Amino acid sequence: MPTSHQITCAGEDCPEWSIRTAVYGTHPEWLAAEHRELLAADGWVDVEGRDYCPDCKPAA
Ligand SMILES: [Zn+2]
Repeated sequence: MPTSHQITCAGEDCPEWSIRTAVYGTHPEWLAAEHRELLAADGWVDVEGRDYCPDCKPAA
């Protein structure tokens, strides 16, 4: 079974989510870190442990 990591937007009523899978044996924490890096490049942000897509990004 492959390792996978899913991130769902914490925005209200927002259907945005992203999942990334890796071959068996990939360390889950490593995969999560890589996933967050890729999402950050797309404009996602992590606010107090909750992830928001570019559309729901809270105003700074
Ligand atoms: Zn969203």
